Amino acid sequence: MTSATVVGAGVFGASTARELRRRGWEVTLVEQYAPGTVLSASGGDTRLLRFGHGDVDWYTRLAVRARQLWLELQEESGQPIWEPVGLAWFDSGEGDFSRRTEETLTRLGLRTERLTPEAARRLYPSVGGEDLSSVLFEPDAGVLHARRATQLLAAGLPTDTRRATPDDPPRTDVVVWACGAWLPQVFPGLVELKISKRDVFFFGVDGSWSGTPGFADYDGAFYGHGDVGGLGMKIAPDGAGEDVNPDTLERSPSPENERAARAYAARRFPAPARAPIIGSRVCQYSLTGDTHFLVAPHPDRAGWWLIGGGSGHGFKHGPALGEYVADCVEGKREPEPFHALGPRAGQASLRTATVER
Ligand SMILES: Cc1cc2nc3c(=O)[nH]c(=O)nc-3n(C[C@H](O)[C@H](O)[C@H](O)COP(=O)(O)OP(=O)(O)OC[C@H]3O[C@@H](n4cnc5c(N)ncnc54)[C@H](O)[C@@H]3O)c2cc1C
Repeated sequence: MTSATVVGAGVFGASTARELRRRGWEVTLVEQYAPGTVLSASGGDTRLLRFGHGDVDWYTRLAVRARQLWLELQEESGQPIWEPVGLAWFDSGEGDFSRRTEETLTRLGLRTERLTPEAARRLYPSVGGEDLSSVLFEPDAGVLHARRATQLLAAGLPTDTRRATPDDPPRTDVVVWACGAWLPQVFPGLVELKISKRDVFFFGVDGSWSGTPGFADYDGAFYGHGDVGGLGMKIAPDGAGEDVNPDTLERSPSPENERAARAYAARRFPAPARAPIIGSRVCQYSLTGDTHFLVAPHPDRAGWWLIGGGSGHGFKHGPALGEYVADCVEGKREPEPFHALGPRAGQASLRTATVER
C-alpha cells in the first residue's frame, strides 16, 4: 500500500482523496475548517453542471464523465445531489462562444437545442428576449447541491482538522495540496492565482420557477438557476471582482452587485425582478490567468502535487478531476501542458467572457 495526504477537503481534494482510496492508497485528508465549509468555493449551496466550454473539448469530456460519477455518488449514498433541469445559454449574438459550443457538443454526440427567443419562453414563466438572438439549451445539464455533494465525497475518509504548512509537512509518500483560494499563500511565489470576491443572490420566486433550467449569459455576464429545493432563484453577476483574502473576507454582498442582479432580472426574467431577495452568499474564485486549471507536480518536492485554479467553473468536474489527478499521481498519464505552473498566455474563457487580471 502507498500513503497519501490530501490537504483541502473542497471538491478537488475530496474527489482526489476518494479516488486514491478507491485505488487502494492509505489516504488522510487534512482540512482546516470542515469539509464543505461555506468559506470554501465548494461550500456553496448549488453549482451548475454544463457541458459547453466553447471548443475546448477537454473540459466537455471531463464534464460528461463527472456527471456520470455524480449520479453514481447519488445512487450509492441515497442522498439527492443532482437536479436534472438543463441549462440555457442566452446568446446575444455578440460573440461566437455559443456557436463554438454547439459545434463541439454536436461533434461529441451531446444533445443540444437551438431555440428562438420566442421558443425559449417554454423554459421559464417569463423571459425577456429583446437583446437575444437565440438560446442554446443543454437538456442534460443540471444543478448540483454542492455543499452536500462535497461532504459526501469526504465522508468516511480519515480527516485531520488542522492547517497544514510546507514547513511542517505531512510525512506520506504523496502530498496533494488542493487548498483552493489558500494555495497562493501556502506556496507564495510559486502559485499565482487571483482570488476574487463573488456575490450570489437568491430571489423569493413563486412555485412556477421550481425546476426551471440553469442559465448562463456568457457575454452578460450573469448566471444562475430557477428555484432549487426552496432556496429561491439564483442570480449571480459574473463580472470582475475585487481581490480578497479568504480568511478575512467579510461575507456580505455589495449593494452594487445586488443592484446589478436586480437589473439583470428585470431585463431577462421580468417576474422575479419584483421578488424579494431571500438569501445571499459571498465566496471567492481562484482564477488562473487563462481559466485553465492548475494540476502540476511541485518543482522541488518529489511526490508533492499542486491542484487548484478552479477559475469559477471547477465544481462540476470534481470526481472526474479526481480520476485525472490520481492517474497523474500514479504515473499513468502526464498532466496536460495547459495545467502547468508558471505564467499563462491567452484566454480560454471557460467561465464567461469576463477577463480578470
Ligand atoms: C460563487 C461561485 C460560484 C461558482 N459557480 C460554479 C458553477 O456554477 N459550476 C462550477 O462547476 N463551478 C463553479 N464555481 C467554481 C467552483 O466552486 C470551484 O472551482 C471549486 O469549488 C474549487 O474547489 P477546490 O477544492 O479547489 O477549492 P475549495 O472548495 O475552496 O476547497 C479548498 C479547501 O482547502 C482547505 N484548505 C486550504 N488551505 C489549507 C491548509 N493549509 N490546510 C488545511 N486545509 C486547507 C480550505 O479550508 C477548503 O476547504 C463557483 C465558485 C464560486 C465562488
